[in-house]
Formats: sequence, C-alpha cells, structure tokens
Amino acid sequence: MTIAQKLSFDVQLSDHARTAAEREQVLANPGFGQIFTDHMISIDYTEGQGWHDARLMPYGPLSLDPATSVFHYAQELFEGLKAYRQTNGSIVTFRPYANAARFNQSALRMAMPELPEETFVESLELLVETDKEWVPTTEGHSLYLRPFMIATQAGLGVNYPSKMYKYMVIASPAASYFAGGIKPVSVWLSTEYTRAAPGGTGFAKCGGNYAAAFVAQRQAVENGCDQVVWLDAHEHKYAEEMGGMNLFFVFGDKLVTPALTGTLLPGITRDSILELAGDLGLETEERLISVDEWQEGCASGELTEVFACGTAAVVTPVGSVRGADRSWTIGDGTPGPVTMRVREDLVGIQYGARPDTHNWIHKV
Ligand code: PMP
Repeated sequence: MTIAQKLSFDVQLSDHARTAAEREQVLANPGFGQIFTDHMISIDYTEGQGWHDARLMPYGPLSLDPATSVFHYAQELFEGLKAYRQTNGSIVTFRPYANAARFNQSALRMAMPELPEETFVESLELLVETDKEWVPTTEGHSLYLRPFMIATQAGLGVNYPSKMYKYMVIASPAASYFAGGIKPVSVWLSTEYTRAAPGGTGFAKCGGNYAAAFVAQRQAVENGCDQVVWLDAHEHKYAEEMGGMNLFFVFGDKLVTPALTGTLLPGITRDSILELAGDLGLETEERLISVDEWQEGCASGELTEVFACGTAAVVTPVGSVRGADRSWTIGDGTPGPVTMRVREDLVGIQYGARPDTHNWIHKV
C-alpha cells in the first residue's frame, strides 16, 4: 500500500561529527563503501499505519532482535546512485526518480511496501544537503548513496511477509573507479551457476541476487578473470549481464544490448545510453544476443567493441572473454572509440561539462 501523505523529517544532528581535518583525510583517499558520512535517514513502516517516524539522525549501528525477518528470509532491497559536484560547484544527483521507480518495482516483487517517489528523492536531498561537505571536489569522485529497505518484524513464520519495515539511506564518498586510467576487464562466462530464472527476482535489486552471485564471481577470479558474465538460465546460451553492470555490444555504429526479459536488472545507465546513442548518431537494438554471436562477431570483425555500464564505473570496456571451453579477445583488447565517446558524454552530463539536454540532472 502506498501512503500518499507527505512525511516531515525529524532532524537530529550528530554531536560527534568528524572534524574538517578528519573528513579531508578520508576524502583524500576514499576507496569505495568503507567510510560513511556523519548522518543517515531512517523511515519506519507498519502495516495499517503506513510510513512514519521519518528521521535524519547521526550515522550509527542498529539494534535488532535476532529473530528479525530480514536475517532469515532476506526480505530486503536496495538502490545505488551518486551525488556529483559539478564544475560550477553545485551538487546534483543523476535521475533519482528512475531509482525511486526501480525501488518500488523491487518492492512489489519482494512483497514490500512502496515508498512515495517524492519521499525517496526528498530523503536523498536531505542527507546530501546535511552532509554536503562529504561530496568530493576531486575530479571523477562522488558521494555514493545507498537507499535500502529491510523487513523488521521479529518472528520466524515463513508463510507471510513482514508487517514492519525500515527504509534507510547511508552515504559514502567514492573514488574514481579508474584512478589508474581506463582498463578493459576480462570476463568469465558462467555456465555452472545461474543468476536469475524466468519468474524469479532478476529484475529486482534484492540482496539475495547478490548473495547467490559471490560464488560465481569467485570462480571468475579463479579462472583469471575480473568479472562474471551471466547467461540465461534455460540454455546458458544468451548473454544477460556482467556482475553489477549491463552489457552493450558495438556492431560498427549500432549498439546492441540484451533485452529486458525479466532476468536482468534494468540499469539506469543502460537506459540513459539507449537515449544518448541517438545524440551520437548510433542506432540501438534491444534483443537476445548469444555467446556464439559474440564470439563469431569478434572473429569476423563485425562486433568491434563490448562495454559494460552501471552507476559505479559508468562505462567499462570488456577486453577478453573466457568460458569453460573457449576464450577470445574483443578487437585488439584495448578501449574502443565508441565506448570512450559514450563514456565521455555520460560523465560530461553528470559532472556538468556537457549540457543536460535530456533533463537528467537533479539539483540538491
Ligand atoms: N546489473 C546489476 C546486477 C547491478 O547490480 C547494477 C547496478 N545497480 C546494474 C546492472 C547497473 O544498474 P545502474 O546503471 O542503475 O547502476
């Protein structure tokens, strides 16, 4: 049930916020997802009452009963987006309403309550505004925002969803993914493990999808690759996505990306690239693409580049592919010109170097 009432946030500022010197020390070398800002957002939901107790509060641990539903049945979902400091000094987020909509799609699949999109975006604005000094000024750095929701009812009954939930947002400064220059990744084709099957949760951003992926990612590394590429559950024939990113296949001036069949995450970067392609004079196609077509296209030279895309690394070239019974290189294994153009365009909009012709930038 969506409760349409407008929530007002109770604001409780931290009395132990880091000093400017401590913050600068973190921002000099932020890494990813290890250190969090001084505050967080919390909103509670109770069946029959709706969303209540919206708060901005000091960042800190939660106290939960060991029988809390999320620990046992993983009724949980999350989002990921970034706040950028633009070249003119303003702080913006990128398409936050798209994240709000995907959050609610995940919520429906997980039998969890939807959060009004306005509340989702307002919660991000309040946290970023309060902790704005944590938005890095270094080029290519950003403040990663992690909204999430957990089932908080205590009890082990497995036949019904929780009647209580907690929505939270935490924030963590993030360095550029490519501090040492853009490096193509090598990928491992996972035929032993499956990420998502039709009717499952592949399109939802729920923690369980990621828990089940670690073993395949570990297998990719054991096979000398950086990332796992997931294939369809039925035949292990079609490419779906790569780790935490969507895939694009470049055939000359055409971009082909796997269709949203319900088993892959509808990435916001993917959607943005499909729109941006027109500006760059590129055609687009959403369809199934098989591993055989991928390999044969590289052999014939028709398939010139492959890249992965997502919030964390924006656009990442894929240089080589390995599977249980085959391996090949894409082009000459170095970042291709289409990949780099797409990347520059998107990063340019996010950081304000290019005009925001698609109206994607949301000022905080
Ligand atoms: N696929 C998966 C499995 C992901 O976790 C992500 C990251 N959210 C993506 C694709 C890319 O999505 P987005 O462009 O919205 O970051």
